Amino acid sequence: MNANDPSVIPIVSAPAPAAADEEVSLLEIRKKIYVRAVHGGFARWRWGLVFATQLVFYGVPWLAWNGRQAVLFEIAERKFYIFGLVLWPQDVIYLTALLIIAAFALFLFTAVAGRLWCGYACPQTVYTEIFMWIEKKIEGERVARMKLDGSALSLEKFVVKAVKHVAWLAIALWTGYTFVGYFSPIRGLGIRAITWQLGPWEAFWILFYGFATYGNAGFMREQVCKYMCPYARFQSAMFDRDTLIIAYDRERGERRGPRSRKADPKSAGLGDCVDCNICVQVCPTGIDIRKGLQYECIGCAACIDGCDQVMDRMGYPKGLIRYASENALEGHLDRAAMLKRMLRPRTAIYTGVLVVIVAAIGVSLALRNPLKVDVIRDRGALARESAPGVIENVYRVQIMNTDESARTFTIAATGLPDVTVAGVEQPIAVGAAGTRLVPVRLQVPVDAGTPGSHPIEIVVQSTDEPKLVRREKSTFMLPR
Ligand code: SF4
Ligand code: SF4
Repeated sequence: MNANDPSVIPIVSAPAPAAADEEVSLLEIRKKIYVRAVHGGFARWRWGLVFATQLVFYGVPWLAWNGRQAVLFEIAERKFYIFGLVLWPQDVIYLTALLIIAAFALFLFTAVAGRLWCGYACPQTVYTEIFMWIEKKIEGERVARMKLDGSALSLEKFVVKAVKHVAWLAIALWTGYTFVGYFSPIRGLGIRAITWQLGPWEAFWILFYGFATYGNAGFMREQVCKYMCPYARFQSAMFDRDTLIIAYDRERGERRGPRSRKADPKSAGLGDCVDCNICVQVCPTGIDIRKGLQYECIGCAACIDGCDQVMDRMGYPKGLIRYASENALEGHLDRAAMLKRMLRPRTAIYTGVLVVIVAAIGVSLALRNPLKVDVIRDRGALARESAPGVIENVYRVQIMNTDESARTFTIAATGLPDVTVAGVEQPIAVGAAGTRLVPVRLQVPVDAGTPGSHPIEIVVQSTDEPKLVRREKSTFMLPR
C-alpha cells in the first residue's frame, strides 16, 4: 500500500508483535458495481412501487382544490394546505402524530419482514432503480457497460456517456423542481424559472435537491445505504428470530458447485446451489447473500428473482433464496407455520399502538373546530376607569378562521355581572383561511366584584354557523 495515497486512511496496527509497523487501511476503495438486470415477481413489485410513489410525488403538486394547489406547505404564511384541510402552527400535534405513525409503521414492517421500506419504497432505492434503468437503456446490459467503461475514450463513448448524464440531470432537476413545488405554487414556479425570476431559496433548493438526486442515484448508490443511512445500523434492534429476512437455505444449497442439468446432484454430493453467482451479480449492494444476513442487504429481493430463474432452468424447486425467518429455516417450519409466527407480542404491540394513534387522529380531525382564538391581555394598561363608575380592561383577540370559506364572528364575554364588549364593530369578518387581530375593550361597573383578578371567558362565535364557537379563558382586573 502506498502510504502517500490520500485516498486511504493508514493506521499502525497496535500490539501485534509480528507486524508492529504494518499499516492497515480502514477505508475500502469502492469498486463500481455493474448490476445485472433481473426479472421476476419481486422486481415487478419493486417497479409497481416505483410507479406508485413517483405518480404521487410528481403528480400531487399539480392537483387543484377550491381554486388553489391541493397540497401546499406555505412556510412563509405558516399554513399547510392538504386538500380540504388547512393546518396552522397550532396544529403541530398532527405533524407530531404523523411522525409517530411513520416510526411505528417502520417498526412494525421491519419486525414482520425486515427492510421492506429500504427494498421497495425508499427514495434512494426508487431513484437508483430509475437511474439504473436509464443507464441500461443507453449503455446496454451489464457486460456492455463493463466493456464501455473499460474502453479508451472515443467520440462514441463520450456521446453515450453525455446522453446518459443529460437524461439523469433532467430527471434530477425535475425532481428538485417538484420538491420545491410542494412549498411554492408549482404552476408559477415554471414561469419564474424560465424568466430567471426565482427567489434565492427556490433556486437553491431546486439545485440542491436536484444534485442530491443526481449524485445519490447516479454515483453514490449503494454507498448511501452502506455508509450514510443510519437505519441500516439500528435495524437489527427491530429484528428477531421470527422476522422474515432474505435468506439463503444453506442446508438445501450446500455443497454448492457447477453441474450439468442432467446430472443428479445428490449422487454427486451436491446441494441445489450451482454457484452461478447470479445472486451476487443482481445485488445492488454487491453482497453475497449466501454468507448470511449482512447489514448491507437492503432487502430488495433481487437475489430471490435471480436465483428462482436459475432454479427454473435447472428444473429445481424455486426458493433456494427466499423470505424466511431464522426459526423457520432452523425448525423446518412450513409456510403457514412461519406466517403464523408473524403475530407475536412485539408485532401485536406495534399494531395496537398504530391503530390507537390512527383512530385518535381520525376522530380528532373529524371533530376539529376550524375556529381558533388567541386572547392576549394588554400588559401596558391592566385596568382603567374609562368613564365615571366604569372599569375597562384591554385585550387583543386573534381570530383564526382555518375554514376555506369567509365567515363573520361576534365577540362576547362572561364571568362578571354586566360585562360588555366595547371598541369593536361587530360582526367581525374574517376571510377564508384568514386571521384577524381585534383590539377589544371589556367594561364592567366598578362594583361588579371585589378588587383583584377575576376569571372571565371571551366567547367568539360564528354568526353563519353558531356551533363554531370558542371560549377562551382570561382574567379581568378590578382596581383597589
Ligand atoms: S443464484 Fe442461486 S444457484 Fe446461483 S449462486 Fe446464487 S444461490 Fe447459488
Ligand atoms: S442480498 Fe442483495 S439482492 Fe439480495 S435482497 Fe439483499 S440487497 Fe437485495
